[in-house]
Amino acid sequence: MKLCDPALFRQECYINGRWISSRKTIVVTDPSDGAVLGSVPALGRDETEQAVRGAGEAFPLWSRLTAKKRSLVLKRWHALICENENDLAYIMTCEQGKPLSEAVSEIQSAAAYIEWFAEEAKRVYGDTIPMSQEGKRIIVLKEPVGVCAAITPWNFPSAMIARKTAPALAAGCTVIVKPSELTPFSAMALAELADRAGFPPGVFNVVTGPAEEIGSVLTGSVDVRKLSFSGSTAVGRLLMRDCSDSLKRISLELGGHAPFIVFEDADIDAAVADAVASKFRNSGQTCVCANRFIIHDSVYTEFVEKFVQAVEQQLSVGPGRISDHNQGPLIDMDAVEKIEDQIRDALSKGARIATGGSRIPGKGYFFEPTVLLNVLPTMKILREETFGPVAPVSSFTTESEAVAMANDSEYGLAAYFYSRDVARAWRVTELLEYGMVGVNTARLSSEAAPFGGMKKSGLGREGSKYGMDEYLEIKYMCIGRVS
Ligand code: ADP
Repeated sequence: MKLCDPALFRQECYINGRWISSRKTIVVTDPSDGAVLGSVPALGRDETEQAVRGAGEAFPLWSRLTAKKRSLVLKRWHALICENENDLAYIMTCEQGKPLSEAVSEIQSAAAYIEWFAEEAKRVYGDTIPMSQEGKRIIVLKEPVGVCAAITPWNFPSAMIARKTAPALAAGCTVIVKPSELTPFSAMALAELADRAGFPPGVFNVVTGPAEEIGSVLTGSVDVRKLSFSGSTAVGRLLMRDCSDSLKRISLELGGHAPFIVFEDADIDAAVADAVASKFRNSGQTCVCANRFIIHDSVYTEFVEKFVQAVEQQLSVGPGRISDHNQGPLIDMDAVEKIEDQIRDALSKGARIATGGSRIPGKGYFFEPTVLLNVLPTMKILREETFGPVAPVSSFTTESEAVAMANDSEYGLAAYFYSRDVARAWRVTELLEYGMVGVNTARLSSEAAPFGGMKKSGLGREGSKYGMDEYLEIKYMCIGRVS
């Protein structure tokens, strides 16, 4: 790998402040051409238990440091990530496939979460509560939860780790990260920089290996007090069940199926620009990607014409390392086959392809940016998460019809709508059963905002002041006999 700092490319795990290798390994490949990039250890139960023990032993020291000292270490980590932005982005593009420009944005977003929580570390305020009984005083203290586990997916290999570990570390928790086996090198590079930033041994750990084996240690251990997971709803449900024995606290950021509504009074050009950006970011592989386009009858033809034209003219598919391309490969062949199945199902039930529709032959998992018209609720593509560059378009007549179509999903992560009517902006926002609503914007992620979903999209919020609460216990102290 061509890096300014080759030491950022680590093929070992990071446990208790030491780099660990193993004879059994997992090979990691580049989704743009199938080339082998390297391998990471296939660690199992023993090493994961060792990481849990180390994190437990590090907890008293880390949690008792002053918030200012923890904040300083996080700030050093943030600075090192910013300094090494290009190398980190390059590693990500190689293993994940996204265009380099998107990888750079992700590293900046990861850094922004760390900076935000480095600042929040110093503002974990408690409370005093006016007493209701004579001679007593009520004080509320906030304390770190303890050892935390973070299981993260491949679509945002760095930002997901930052979004989970920064608030945990800021609160005084110690963490064990299990990154996706498809994108472990981004996690290892973050661990290398965490080591240089000066986190004490055991405070930040990364383990790779068989997901179920590592997962069962993390969910089963009573010493792990909290699990934060981002990934599929199926795995999230399983982890929640596995955490029930130890009654662990959990945060789950799961699937999404974001509706994108365009009302008759919308700025159509703005809606088209955002539709392309939201649908095709990361080749459609984000949980907040616009997944269902719901367009008012009276602007349907105009929207579709402009949208299809923008997709055909603005999107260029190819390896993310080459700057001409803004559409990288999908993560693997399963992802290609899933969208092929959704397209086949839609066409058999009456949908029509306006552009795209096929995989691109040759090396890598490339798929044409696709727009499907005449899409109906009976089609799989309106029921299942897509996670690929396919935009299904449907139409509606009344506002209540649009809201009903938008809410007709088991998911409730992000929703978007376009309208210039302020009353409608409030009304529709209140009616949408989603954790995040974008009005005239489809770019919601920010370290300052609470990210998370309702229904089968998960539990808890990440980012913002609310993101700290996920890693804090509330302890109430009652002082009696105050005369
Ligand atoms: P995606 O569809 O994004 O790949 P997954 O839910 O399959 O989502 O994976 C997200 C993360 O969960 C990855 O780190 C993966 O290794 C991990 N994972 C998958 N299955 C399990 C499991 N049974 N136990 C623990 N972790 C798992």
